[in-house]
Amino acid sequence: MKYFGAHVSAAGGTQHAPVNAHALAATAFALFTKNQRQWVAKPLAQAETEAFRAACRENGYTPAQILPHDSYLINLGHPEEEGLRKSREAFIEEMRRCEQLGLDRLNFHPGSHLKQISEEESLDRIAASIDLALEATSGVTAVIENTAGQGSNLGFRFEQLAYLIERVSDKSRVGICIDTCHAFAAGYDLRTAAACEETFAELDRIVGLQYLRGMHLNDAMKPLGSRVDRHAPLGDGEIGWECFRYIARDSRFDGIPLILETPDESRWAAEIAALKAFAEE
Ligand SMILES: [Zn+2]
Ligand SMILES: [Zn+2]
Repeated sequence: MKYFGAHVSAAGGTQHAPVNAHALAATAFALFTKNQRQWVAKPLAQAETEAFRAACRENGYTPAQILPHDSYLINLGHPEEEGLRKSREAFIEEMRRCEQLGLDRLNFHPGSHLKQISEEESLDRIAASIDLALEATSGVTAVIENTAGQGSNLGFRFEQLAYLIERVSDKSRVGICIDTCHAFAAGYDLRTAAACEETFAELDRIVGLQYLRGMHLNDAMKPLGSRVDRHAPLGDGEIGWECFRYIARDSRFDGIPLILETPDESRWAAEIAALKAFAEE
């Protein structure tokens, strides 16, 4: 079974996200469990976590269909002690919020070295940060997203994702999320079925597809290997429809949230309908 959805708004409370997803006829969704541009949030009230669980039940969403995303401020590979401490605290808090909402995974961008430490030192900090978060929580998998490699962001090479997983103690609670736009911007071709075949074979060889806990389906505004993170509506970018048809029809991507983060929200319902149609071909 394929689960398709979008990163929907949780304005007014997390319980609105499943309702917003249902309005798109989505079978999956992503959300921020707090304001993604602020460090601190009010703790989740029990009334809200209950309302969220009820709304998921009523609209037909199980945890395997939901991919929460953490705050953009968090940098688990931060070169400075203060920034690292703050990021680790905030990340553990985000993991706890997922626990409270009954969710089983949290999607995050690995981190950036900010040109102050080496890639390897920063990656080691990220792996240690994941270990700390897994020790402090239970039941939630840390899902590392591949990046476009813009600026000093790490996680743009599959080898870097594998490096992190290798260093995390509890392999049962670490996973990956592949963003098609980011992979393409990082130099992994996805423009044809043959290119997809090759890219996902490489991912399987280097990381292992058993770690895949979700995907972001985005077309890319910039050319292959640009290292620039600019999403485009499906079919409007440099990747094109063939990649999304390939993913929709391949059973290796069953049972995980496949999430649109495309820029034009008014097209999400149509994009989801197109993906569903491919899956049923
Ligand atoms: Zn993404
Ligand atoms: Zn992006």
